[in-house]
Amino acid sequence: MSELKHVAIAGATGAVGVEMLKCLEQRDFPVGQLTLLASARSAGKTMTFRGEEIPVQELTADSFKHVDIALFSAGSGISKEFGPHAVASNAVVVDNSSAFRMEPEVPLVVPEVNGGDVEKHAGIIANPNCTTIITLMGLNPLHQAFGGVTRIIASSYQAVSGSGAQGIIELEAQNKALALGEPLPERKVYPHQIASNVIPQVDVFLENGYTKEEMKMHHEGRKILHSDELVASVTCVRVPVYRSHAVAITAEFHNEPSVEAARLAIESAPGVQVVDDITASPAKYPTPLDVTNADDCLVGRIRRDLVFAEKGLTFWVVGDQVRKGAALNAVQIAELL
Ligand code: NAP
Repeated sequence: MSELKHVAIAGATGAVGVEMLKCLEQRDFPVGQLTLLASARSAGKTMTFRGEEIPVQELTADSFKHVDIALFSAGSGISKEFGPHAVASNAVVVDNSSAFRMEPEVPLVVPEVNGGDVEKHAGIIANPNCTTIITLMGLNPLHQAFGGVTRIIASSYQAVSGSGAQGIIELEAQNKALALGEPLPERKVYPHQIASNVIPQVDVFLENGYTKEEMKMHHEGRKILHSDELVASVTCVRVPVYRSHAVAITAEFHNEPSVEAARLAIESAPGVQVVDDITASPAKYPTPLDVTNADDCLVGRIRRDLVFAEKGLTFWVVGDQVRKGAALNAVQIAELL
């Protein structure tokens, strides 16, 4: 892409919006003009891009005149309300929310996995759920290497920044109160105390007993991998970590996998690396701190699975969910455009 683009970020002041700004700058995206949009609360604030102070404007239906690419990251209600206005103004929308992900005419894209799907867009391209992106970064090379994945069982360990700026504030306030021996402040984000705890609930419960977040991995995974056969049983857990998600995955494939072939497949895939040496002292495997502010996802603890003994592998993937799980993935989609 050589032509300079007019890029808008809706939700520029949020956890993901701030990271989108960084990704555009760090990746030298050909931005000719940048429009930063947020709620009326932020109008008049400024944010820095390439050393220039840019004012934040209130998002309105008229915000997208002459915009080429609109990166949306202000929640699904805002995407549903303002996304169509952006499309009507001839902008291509890359939407980070769940608003359009499962609509048949909207491509749901992880560039390293199904980048070609971008071409089918009709104005809107959706960024998948963060836990799904991180899982697929580790899983897709194995899906390709071993004849296709059929079933996965996964548990996630999700950082509080996945709930946006308010999640970080809630954990910080609870940690501080615990350290000072003071009563915990009123909870606003999580259904239980998150400091010194883990909560086996991310998002709301559905009729089948799974949460919405857990079913996203199943539905979005099938759409991204173009697979009608994949079944995913997932338990999503919020942990008192500030940033970067981890996922423990057991996957069954059509063909018998080997640990060596799995390592080779992951090592030769873009955007993902193997960190896996249990003989080292201390043992090497990736942790959330290892990927925070990094682009690549990391995979470790790769082993033959004892339950899916014939055709299964168990492994551990970590990724920065604000970056690869959201902002970076959206900017990579914009680069494909
Ligand atoms: P956040 O930190 O709470 O930021 C929300 C952003 O939306 C802020 O810029 C906020 O502006 C803006 N906003 C809120 N109400 C608005 C309104 N009425 N009009 C215009 N702008 C409004 O949330 P976030 O974590 O960045 O998440 C944003 C989206 O990304 C959500 O759909 C989320 O599900 C998705 N996502 C988040 C992550 C993650 O790790 N955090 C990962 C993947 C996907 P003000 O500052 O003015 O309030």
